[in-house]
Amino acid sequence: MTDRAVPFHCPYCADEDLRPHGEKHGEWECRACQRAFRLSFVGQLAPHRQGGGPA
Ligand SMILES: [Zn+2]
Repeated sequence: MTDRAVPFHCPYCADEDLRPHGEKHGEWECRACQRAFRLSFVGQLAPHRQGGGPA
């Protein structure tokens, strides 16, 4: 499992002009809105419950 992920859209302005930010993996900057942000893996979701609705 890798924690590397490539964003396709800026989470702030939804632009696609994203580039790696700095030297760390998972940090990106948006050239459209001039924001830098970090993506990180939080965890695996629990298996989907059968017939489960909003708890
Ligand atoms: Zn943006």
